[in-house]
Amino acid sequence: MIVVMARGATAEEIKDVEKRITDWGYGVHPIYGAERTVIGAVGVPEADKARYMESLEALSCVEQVIGILRPYKFASREFHPEGTVIDVKGVPVGGKQIALMAGPCTVETYAQTLESAEACYAAGARILRGGAYKPSTSPYSFQGHGEDALKMLRDIADSLGMRVITEVMDPRNVELVCRYADILQIGTRNMQNYDLLREVGQVKTPVMVKRGMWAKIEEWLQAAEYVLLGGNPNVMLCERGIRTFETYTRNTMDISAIPAVKELSHLPIVLDPSQGTGRRSLVEAMTRAGVAAGADGLLIEVHPHPDQALKDGAQSLTTEYFGPMIERLKPLVEVCGRTL
Ligand code: PEP
Ligand code: MN
Repeated sequence: MIVVMARGATAEEIKDVEKRITDWGYGVHPIYGAERTVIGAVGVPEADKARYMESLEALSCVEQVIGILRPYKFASREFHPEGTVIDVKGVPVGGKQIALMAGPCTVETYAQTLESAEACYAAGARILRGGAYKPSTSPYSFQGHGEDALKMLRDIADSLGMRVITEVMDPRNVELVCRYADILQIGTRNMQNYDLLREVGQVKTPVMVKRGMWAKIEEWLQAAEYVLLGGNPNVMLCERGIRTFETYTRNTMDISAIPAVKELSHLPIVLDPSQGTGRRSLVEAMTRAGVAAGADGLLIEVHPHPDQALKDGAQSLTTEYFGPMIERLKPLVEVCGRTL
């Protein structure tokens, strides 16, 4: 950590800070500047750092204390420089192949989910998405069919040879959702639900941590760290757009988050251009942008009749549109050195 002394800190105060650090048993590397002094403290174990930082920050002669290691370890690139590939029952997420996850926003009926799943499978998707528990801003809007929807998802996915990704919102439901799902989705609204993150850290089912719509990349990686620290190594991230002042789009797609996450972390990163834009007409362009930026997966909403959808119809692609769109994507995927 680095201790930035306040402008005008006296020689005595500087000596006092150096003594505190050496008394704790760590080395000091001071740089005495004309205007101010900066003291590097070396060898401080990660576990003690927060405590020491706090006690130094409390001194009026100290302006700032900066921790130089990142606030996440297991999620950091250094931990697995070669990058992580998650095996979702034979379907890889991470690595050269881009994982295609598609399906309806929400499981409404068996027929609607089946029709969507068949079109997604025909286009090449091997992971079926669909909400059984729906997070809603309004308590009056549709909340999902719960376990009945999980059963439908599992049944349809098995009949086609697909895997299932679905959201879990309540720590008490983790075990139940694990019985049906191959990937547990942590929704944007729950990115800082630490009890839920800890709970999904206790299982081995892969987890997708969606970025909080308000969250900085560092906070998002710290959310992933909760799951990893719990002992579940199968964590992937999903950029799904963030809130800005723009209202034309539902969210603002942070495409730069994809290469940024690749620099900072070894975890696979998936793009969700459906929640990201809120507009069907923008989904294809954002999908292409995501592939060009290096996304390891795509999570896309597809509905047989978007005009009748209970949720997110405006951003859902039709089943007819999805297949040709994936065909148009293939040359780009190849140019980017990836496969689909
Ligand atoms: C969804 O995938 O349908 C969804 C609700 O996602 P998010 O949590 O990103 O809004
Ligand atoms: Mn949705």
